[in-house]
Amino acid sequence: TFLPLAGRVAVVTGASSGLGEAAAELLAARGAKVAVIARRTDRLDALVERVAANGGTALALQADVTDADAVKAAAARVEAELGTADLLFNNAGVMLPAKIGEVREDLWRRQVDVNIQGLLNAVAAFTPQLLRAAAERGVADLVNTSSIAAQNLFPTFEVYSGTKAFVSHYSRTLRAELGAQGVRVAVIEPGIVRTELQAHVTEPDAVDWLTDTFKTMEVLEAGDVAEALAHLAALPPRVNLQQVVIMPTTQA
Ligand code: NDP
Repeated sequence: TFLPLAGRVAVVTGASSGLGEAAAELLAARGAKVAVIARRTDRLDALVERVAANGGTALALQADVTDADAVKAAAARVEAELGTADLLFNNAGVMLPAKIGEVREDLWRRQVDVNIQGLLNAVAAFTPQLLRAAAERGVADLVNTSSIAAQNLFPTFEVYSGTKAFVSHYSRTLRAELGAQGVRVAVIEPGIVRTELQAHVTEPDAVDWLTDTFKTMEVLEAGDVAEALAHLAALPPRVNLQQVVIMPTTQA
């Protein structure tokens, strides 16, 4: 038997666009109450309105994931206003490739801050709720967004790839600890998805490569990744689909 998503309390970071936005809409459409976290409140508010118009429940919470206190404050509001979180889609991230010779320490730091420390801040803020939910309801889910860049080589994406390799290996290790307490830990590693992620890329060769890829390849849509998330969260409590590599069919 599958676990219904209806009635679950889901938290999505990076929910103002791309994978997070699509995931929040799908989880809400399947009956979960969804807390949506990001910095752009206009986008979060519009998302909450769309969810409500479709008969769902969503709560917008502005937070920069690099601000540990802000993420903890958001976690307190989730518990008070929606109930104990039993699903965290830990998804906020940035991708800022740069040639090594340019020594773009600002971009290196930004990626480490958001993709690693931001992800850990959400784990710190929400794991107590996930553990309580697992104890009360038998299961909870912590799903981290990594990337195929954790495995494959993309020149100028070294720091991004390193942060995602962290996310993937961290997730496997965390699973070994939290699984015993009923919290399923999973990592999703997508290939190229049409989102706003690429809009922040400034490195000219990377821009050319991405532009060419979008022209010549049918890339994934954000909803495709959301379907994978909804699938793994709806599996019976004994099943932990721990690693999902989801690629455009024609991406090598
Ligand atoms: P988008 O740029 O569309 O979405 C990124 C989200 O992260 C936005 O909601 C943004 O919100 C949020 N975010 C960024 N920085 C912060 C911050 N400091 N605090 C809070 N939220 C933040 O890209 P995607 O949807 O593609 O990215 C989602 C995840 O998927 C990322 O982890 C990315 O690395 C990963 N991924 C994406 C792939 C792709 O091809 N698109 C492939 C593989 C992995 P706001 O700016 O409002 O704060």
